[in-house]
Amino acid sequence: RVAYVNGTYSPHGEAVVHIEDRGFQFADGVYEVWSVFDGRLADFDGHMTRLHRSLNELRIDIPMSVASLTRVLRETVRRNRVKNGIVYLQVTRGTARRDHPFPTPGTPPSVIVTAKSISPARGDAQAQKGVAVLTQPDIRWGRCDIKTVGLLPNIMAKQAAREAGAYEAWFVDDMGLVTEGSSTNAWIVDEHGKLRTRDTQANILKGCTRTTLMELIKEHGVELDERPFSVEEAKRAREAFFTAAGAFVTPAISIDGTRIGDGKPGPITLKLRALYLDQARRDAV
Ligand code: PLP
Repeated sequence: RVAYVNGTYSPHGEAVVHIEDRGFQFADGVYEVWSVFDGRLADFDGHMTRLHRSLNELRIDIPMSVASLTRVLRETVRRNRVKNGIVYLQVTRGTARRDHPFPTPGTPPSVIVTAKSISPARGDAQAQKGVAVLTQPDIRWGRCDIKTVGLLPNIMAKQAAREAGAYEAWFVDDMGLVTEGSSTNAWIVDEHGKLRTRDTQANILKGCTRTTLMELIKEHGVELDERPFSVEEAKRAREAFFTAAGAFVTPAISIDGTRIGDGKPGPITLKLRALYLDQARRDAV
C-alpha cells in the first residue's frame, strides 16, 4: 500500500507526519471519506464541498486547488489498485511548536491521503442480515457539523457498541432524541410508515450519503419527515437504518436489544440501499 503525505507518495508503513503536527497534538484538522466504485469516487462534489466548508469554519488554509487535490485522490486510489473501497483525506493546520493559538500565518497545512480496498461482499452480507445498534449519550461538542478528526466521543461510543455485540452506536441527546450514529446518520421508517431522519440544524454532520439519498427519496415520491425521533420511537419503528460513505444504507435490526419490526432488514431500507448504490455507481467520477 501507498500513502500520500505532503506531496510525496511513500510505502504505507513508512508514511509519517511530524510529532508537532497539530492534528496529532490538538485534533486540529478535518477529514473526508469517499467511497470508491470501480476505481471512481462517489458523491465526489458533495464531499469536496463539505471539506472546504470544514476548513473554512476552522480557518485552516486551503492546501491546494480542487484540481490538484482531485489528482492526488485519484492517484492514491490508482497506486493502491483500489477497485472498491474508500479513500481517506485528512488536512490539519500543519506543524508548529506546540502552542494553542494558530501558528504563524503561512504555515502549510498537512495533507495525507490513504486508500483501502473493501470487498463489496462484506457490506452485502451485512445488509442482508442487518446489524444491532446500541444507544449512547451524545456527549460531543456544539460543532458536530464540522467533520473534524476530534472523534474521541465517537470512538468511545463505537467501542461500547462493539463490546455489547452491536455494530453501530446511536447518540442520544438530553431529550431522549437520536442525534446520529457514531460515524453515520440515523433513520427510521416510523410506526406510521413515514421515513424520518433528524434535521441538520441540530448539531449533526450533514452526511453526503444522506443528501444523495434524500434526492432519491424525493425523485421516487416517498414522503420524508426531516424531524428528530426518540429512542422509544425507534424501538417501535417498522424499520431502521443508517447511512455513510462506505456503509451506504445499512439496516439496523435491533436497538439496545429490542427487535425492530420483525427483526429483519425492512423492504424500504433495502430498496433505498439498492437505489443509493445504483446512483452512486452511476455518478462516481
Ligand atoms: N455522522 C457522522 C458523525 C459521521 O462521522 C459520518 C461519516 O463519517 C456521517 C454522519 C455520514 O456522513 P457521510 O454520508 O458523508 O459519510
